[in-house]
Amino acid sequence: MMHDRSAVSRVLNEREQQLLLRLIAVCNKNDNYKQQIDHLRVTGRCNCGCPTVDLCSKETEHRPKPPHKNIVDAEFILPNGHVIGVILWANDGQIMGLELYPCNFQEPFEIPELAFLANVMLNEEAV
Ligand SMILES: [Zn+2]
Repeated sequence: MMHDRSAVSRVLNEREQQLLLRLIAVCNKNDNYKQQIDHLRVTGRCNCGCPTVDLCSKETEHRPKPPHKNIVDAEFILPNGHVIGVILWANDGQIMGLELYPCNFQEPFEIPELAFLANVMLNEEAV
């Protein structure tokens, strides 16, 4: 899916923070990422209505974005059968974004309850 972005500037909401914490828990650079979470800002959001966001620390907010690496994959598997793919993007130890995409449905959606998160997998090569 193409993700066109709009610029925004806000702090993370609680659901975003909780999801990030769960995703970085599988990382061996865990402490490094954990320290960033409190200082992250949402600097872009997807225009399609999905909860995909670009994330930056205060220090990197106005710098050009380096290429992102997919460091953690996960899925939300909802009771209604909907599956939402999740990707944590980072570069050189900096969290860069959180992507969510519908795998088998079309309707707009929010970040689901974390109880439905499954298959959290570290991408060893990218870390
Ligand atoms: Zn989108």
